[in-house]
Amino acid sequence: MSTTWEPVIGLEIHVQLKTATKMFCRCRNGYGGEPNTQTCPVCLAFPGALPVPNRRAIEETIKLGLALECTIADRAIFHRKNYFYPDLPKAYQISQYDEPLCANGRLVVPTADGEVEIGIVRAHLEEDAAKNVHVATSGRIQGATATLVDFNRGGSPLVEIVTAPNIHSADVAKRFLQLLRQTVVELGLSDAELDKGSMRFDVNVSVRPAGSDELRTRTELKNMNSFNFAAKGIEREIARQIKIYENGGTVDQETLHFDPTAEESAPMRSKEEAQDYRYFPEPDLVPLHPAPEMIEGLRGQIGELPTARIRRIANTLSFYDADVLVTGGLDRLWAAVVDGGADPKEAANVLANAFVATGINPSAVNPEEFTKLVASRSEIPRAVFDDALSHVGDPGFSAEPYVAQKAVSDASALEPVIAAVIEANPGQVEQYRGGKQGLLGFFVGQVMKETGGSADPRVVSELVREQLGA
Ligand code: ADP
Ligand code: MG
Ligand code: ZN
Repeated sequence: MSTTWEPVIGLEIHVQLKTATKMFCRCRNGYGGEPNTQTCPVCLAFPGALPVPNRRAIEETIKLGLALECTIADRAIFHRKNYFYPDLPKAYQISQYDEPLCANGRLVVPTADGEVEIGIVRAHLEEDAAKNVHVATSGRIQGATATLVDFNRGGSPLVEIVTAPNIHSADVAKRFLQLLRQTVVELGLSDAELDKGSMRFDVNVSVRPAGSDELRTRTELKNMNSFNFAAKGIEREIARQIKIYENGGTVDQETLHFDPTAEESAPMRSKEEAQDYRYFPEPDLVPLHPAPEMIEGLRGQIGELPTARIRRIANTLSFYDADVLVTGGLDRLWAAVVDGGADPKEAANVLANAFVATGINPSAVNPEEFTKLVASRSEIPRAVFDDALSHVGDPGFSAEPYVAQKAVSDASALEPVIAAVIEANPGQVEQYRGGKQGLLGFFVGQVMKETGGSADPRVVSELVREQLGA
């Protein structure tokens, strides 16, 4: 007897808003200041200091809620979430509990096998904690000699987005996260940079017999900051739970620490230590009643969203190309290049290969110059093209000097050069003909040198092989 298991995954995502000031005070909100320079009596929790909500943060949260097709509450309130930790000077975090700003939305995730709708339970606004800095070479708490607190981040606006437990594969979870990130970035809410912590997520995982709709005990992988690690962590957790059930065991509700280099995910804390946050309404803040005109104004600021664009572009290109272009933030540049006359597929390939690998910011690229470059791709030497690509994001980039270096791919132009190289290197020719095939590269290199790098190495290699009579 063997059961087929269905994974059940729910995500909780935190996104740091890039408002000018913090959530409840007028301190600068931003990464990178000297420790403890962006603080005031409110965000340091001096007695008697009172919070004043950041209107912009509220608007941005509503905007995201609209993009996620949520219902925007006509009354929302803040709660105090109580816990003790050195990064929380008030010993409570101002958050939202049972009356969040946004609820009951969805994000449609296109996949190669069709579209999957992921439910959004809520999107709410809260303040971030400060940052504990562990003083030791590793930067981790283990082995640290001291822990210092940098309050600059304390009180920054954070949006928390909670999905329904209706994601059923690691791949869809990863795509959801990529799509959500792109949506947030395009709405201008956040840089959502995983390596800087401006987007982080917790992953909840359980499994159940396929066909059942029960929700079994879940475990949680906390504070992940890479889409690939999240997918790996989910896969590993699914496999672990299935094994437990198949051996007749039960899964404990616990928080696991995912270390991609370790074989197993180590428990961080278990249910016994689960916290009771003693939520209660924040008495220092009045309820929020977003005005309908304000909500409609915000709705008007939302352009065509990533899901819709993937859907549209997948009519021209494959789903995979559409997905890479849109979630990589490359599709607007792609469209401009295609409008300029470039071949859609070729342009997509260049963008996907070059930009994703080099990390060039597509918004720094001049579409006209880029179009010229893509159009000349088959006519200029590969090395020249690659070099040009690495500079397309430079201010004032011009395709002209690169395009001018036309490749010599015409056999009639290359043959005399190749003949000369062969004649000049009789020793190597003999060795090559004697079986030392590796010398092909040597001849190609010589020809490239003679042509000043303007030959197409693929063509040269073909012709050299022919002339040497391998
Ligand atoms: P809590 O309030 O304890 O954090 P929630 O009900 O808010 O619990 O759920 C937190 C996250 O866990 C949500 O993303 C939800 O989709 C997910 N989740 C809840 N139950 C399960 C389950 N059985 N399996 C997987 N994910 C789950
Ligand atoms: Mg939760
Ligand atoms: Zn402050």
